[in-house]
Amino acid sequence: MVKRNPNMAKLQSGYLFPEIARRKNEFIKKNPNAKLVSLGIGDTTQPIKPHITKGLADEASRLGTKEGYSGYGAEQGLEELRDRIAEKLYNGAINGDEVFVSDGAKPDTARLQLLFGSNVSIAVQDPSYPVYVDSSVILGQAKGYNQKKSQFGGIEYMKCVPENNFFPDLEKTKKTDIIFFCNPNNPTGAAAARGQLKQLVEFARKNKSILVYDSAYSQFISDKSLPKSIYEIEGAEEVAIEISSFSKPIGFTGVRLGWTVIPNELEFEDGTKVNKDWNRIMTTLFNGASNIAQRGGLAALDKKGMKEMEQTVSYYLENAKVIMASMEKLGYEVYGGIHAPYIWVRVPGKTSWQAFEEFLGKANVVTIPGVGFGPSGEGFLRLSSLGNRQDVDEAVKRIERSLK
Ligand code: PLP
Repeated sequence: MVKRNPNMAKLQSGYLFPEIARRKNEFIKKNPNAKLVSLGIGDTTQPIKPHITKGLADEASRLGTKEGYSGYGAEQGLEELRDRIAEKLYNGAINGDEVFVSDGAKPDTARLQLLFGSNVSIAVQDPSYPVYVDSSVILGQAKGYNQKKSQFGGIEYMKCVPENNFFPDLEKTKKTDIIFFCNPNNPTGAAAARGQLKQLVEFARKNKSILVYDSAYSQFISDKSLPKSIYEIEGAEEVAIEISSFSKPIGFTGVRLGWTVIPNELEFEDGTKVNKDWNRIMTTLFNGASNIAQRGGLAALDKKGMKEMEQTVSYYLENAKVIMASMEKLGYEVYGGIHAPYIWVRVPGKTSWQAFEEFLGKANVVTIPGVGFGPSGEGFLRLSSLGNRQDVDEAVKRIERSLK
């Protein structure tokens, strides 16, 4: 038999969602009549809007005709879509040929790790989207897991908590090759100010690090003074890669469409352009995003589509307002939820899992224990606003009734 990849055995956080499912099932077994409502959901629930759906449907129909059929496309994506992303989402701060269209931000994160290889060191926000740490472990960048600290050796965990405004203390942060930074943040919902992002870019420049900036939630930023892209910061093009996604703002979680920006200025130590190697990775390991999805993406970026995107985002942000108001009414300390679909709630005197059990047991509401996103998530719950309004209203009603 073949030896198992030892890095796979090191993975830890894959335990979060199966553990939530296990506890949910156990609860249902004991309480067969209970109807659970979820505020844990990280997936979208609202239908794709009509104009964007038409973009998808028209392309699907074209593929059924002799004249309209197309097979493999460019691995980097349709030129028209690359240009439109650069124009509409980056206001021309980058060029279309620096945009690489893909099947999503998560697979791009994995392929970026392949690009970097096993011998780099990484830093992550703590708490953070688990894929950065897990992909690092799979590639063998991380050392053993320290149970006591709930951290992997060899990874720099940048504490992001209310006490530091969810922005890491960069003076205490060790230099690493790669810095993953998700903004607005999953799970805390925090959105960094321009000055903070300037510090981050400066830090990466000083340390000659590459900043991997995940802007999957950038469309949820409503305050014009907050940057939506890292390329709004001077000098970022020399240090930053931006990964992003159509998943949340237009409901493409199942359609699958995202992109990665690698500026021409970004180089490795030996002078090789990073996007030259990325092009090699994409042409070798990826065969281009679905032509149907890309036409949907193009529709999302015209005038009607942008309006629809705004409507979808507003729907979820309205949900967030409802959840936040209710939690505040109950006296909880509440963060996020304004520029992101996630609400980060402190649960004083309890561990994340104890609070999870309390919400489940008393209100029959499913949440996500913050500790599942990193050790600094202990003592918090993540609530999501990506559900149906009806479910959100019901969840809030139950919480108010049973947890006051
Ligand atoms: N990045 C972050 C921070 C996310 O929270 C998610 C999904 O939850 C993704 C990326 C995944 O995006 P995609 O659906 O484009 O793979």
